[in-house]
Amino acid sequence: MTIAVQPPTESVVDRFLRYVRIDTQSREDQHTVPSTSTQWELANLLAAELRQLGAGGVRVSECCMVYASIPGNLPNSPAVPAVGFIAHVDTSPAVSGANVNPIVHRNYQGGDIALPADASQVITVAQHPVLNEMIGDDIITTDGTTLLGSDDKAGVAAIMAFVDLLAANPQIEHGPIRVAFTADEEVGTGIDHFDVAAFGADFAYTVDGSTLGEVSDETWNARLATVTFHGKSAHPGTAKGVMVNSIYAMADYLSRMPHDMRPETTEEREGFVHPYAGMLDIEHSSVKILLRDFDLSGLEAKERLLRGLAGETAARFAGVSAQVELKESYKNMKEVLTEHPQITQYALDAARRAGLTPFTKPIRGGTDGSKLTFRGLPCPNIFTGGHEFHSKLEFNSRRGLEKTTETLVHLAQLVAKQVKKD
Ligand SMILES: [Zn+2]
Repeated sequence: MTIAVQPPTESVVDRFLRYVRIDTQSREDQHTVPSTSTQWELANLLAAELRQLGAGGVRVSECCMVYASIPGNLPNSPAVPAVGFIAHVDTSPAVSGANVNPIVHRNYQGGDIALPADASQVITVAQHPVLNEMIGDDIITTDGTTLLGSDDKAGVAAIMAFVDLLAANPQIEHGPIRVAFTADEEVGTGIDHFDVAAFGADFAYTVDGSTLGEVSDETWNARLATVTFHGKSAHPGTAKGVMVNSIYAMADYLSRMPHDMRPETTEEREGFVHPYAGMLDIEHSSVKILLRDFDLSGLEAKERLLRGLAGETAARFAGVSAQVELKESYKNMKEVLTEHPQITQYALDAARRAGLTPFTKPIRGGTDGSKLTFRGLPCPNIFTGGHEFHSKLEFNSRRGLEKTTETLVHLAQLVAKQVKKD
């Protein structure tokens, strides 16, 4: 079933090419949200464009979150669930997002794609077999010196084109729609400032995934362990029988980490433990360790393992004591979404209506949605057509952006047929 639609006032590709040129890189370990002032530029621009497109209640919060709403156009709109669409404006701190120079490789005819400004940057068919499915498409890359920022400006552009399309096509029936653009997703700090109540959606989707058709309703259960060994300092000249050097205890502890439970040795549904930063001195040595597992029982087993190994190490070193502190980072949203299977199903059905082959895939990471889901806003993640996030080889395509936009339109129409429970 195709609907005769007016095109948006600006194509999703043109929007995308405009947005990626704006530097919105976020930064780790900042005490403010947004972590970088550059994110305001895109947030304010999007707010202005949303107003221009006739969206209501447009505002940018003090933490650089953009909110907007589009009233339903159905006689029974108040009874229809309000559906939200969310994307993030920031790009990864891992690779520069300044002076992005997007390149459109029109009518791609196969083969590796060499990026012109850096000969060492080549998108190869061997590493990206998805290229085989993109013959005839217009592929969008960088010049090889920056990331592209498709993560997540593809999501931003698709949502904006979707709003544009709805404004141009009042015949498309939909219920209440909410739109939000968040800051500091990549550094994990923005979403704590997201106002779920004011957003006012019954459920939502982050548009922040990868391969066309891929919908994710599952993320890690994630905890952060801080393991500290305490020793005793003394002047090295008179240390005999007095000094207890915690650095040796830390070395012993790290050598006990299982080899088959690391990010570099696991994939798909296997969880891991990952020491990633620490500090050493004689009196106190501590290490931060990420714990990740899709199953809560698996995560708890990893926590017991880390505690057990710390106890074994402390027992080997006279005078050393171990301290293990755990903090929850986020939880697997599947725990909640499994009770609302229809929310994921709408996305899969919408992708199918857009001519794609939908599938679900767990994310070996977290999304803004993992936190929102546990704050009362169930929120699976939808593809954007982008690949190789956080790298200079990042790419997307015209079809990727168009199919994502089309999927959002179908999704709104599917939800429009539902009536709120309770
Ligand atoms: Zn993202």
